Amino acid sequence: MARYTGPSCKLCRREGTKLFLKGDRCTSDKCAFNRRPVAPGQHGASSKNLKEYGMQLREKQKARRYYGVLENQFKTYFEMADNMEGVTGENLLSLLERRFDNVVYRMGMASSRAEARQLVLHAHIRLNGKKADIPSMILKVGDVLSVREESKSTGRVKELIEAMQSATTPAWLEVDKENATAKVIALPKREDIDFPFEEQLIVELYSK
Ligand code: SF4
Repeated sequence: MARYTGPSCKLCRREGTKLFLKGDRCTSDKCAFNRRPVAPGQHGASSKNLKEYGMQLREKQKARRYYGVLENQFKTYFEMADNMEGVTGENLLSLLERRFDNVVYRMGMASSRAEARQLVLHAHIRLNGKKADIPSMILKVGDVLSVREESKSTGRVKELIEAMQSATTPAWLEVDKENATAKVIALPKREDIDFPFEEQLIVELYSK
């Protein structure tokens, strides 16, 4: 399955904001963006006045990288959002939030979306009691995630369950930390998403 495998911190510097791609490192003083908050490359430090198209493109790239989604898939999510009732930009963010790997991250079971994706790919997480290993699946209200019984006592998964006990979880998820399960109880709303996306710019980009 295709995914970006380049240096994560470079993406934060390119987008001019912390995208929180590397778990605990992102909140430590080792964060590369805190140390050098300019775009990578020879002219990274020079200020750039982005024109309308540039701003729209950067906002799309920011969202894509934040959720770890490749270009074609992101476009597919946009088309789904555009065909839904309601505000397209908000629909898009709601879909991205409900990706299987993102829900695992939001329930507190991983330190980053990349780690959540690995947990899903390695089938450590059950969906409605059954094996499911596709990180890009969009979950719906009523879906229940649980940790595979056999995985609970293995090294990293065991550590993650312990770390999950102190995690903050969103209102649209009902999380049972003791049993390491989560249920989607509502669709994520714009105010549930704690990243300052300007999703209207993404809509404008794809509406050209
Ligand atoms: Fe971005 Fe800092 Fe995390 Fe690297 S450590 S991914 S620069 S937030």
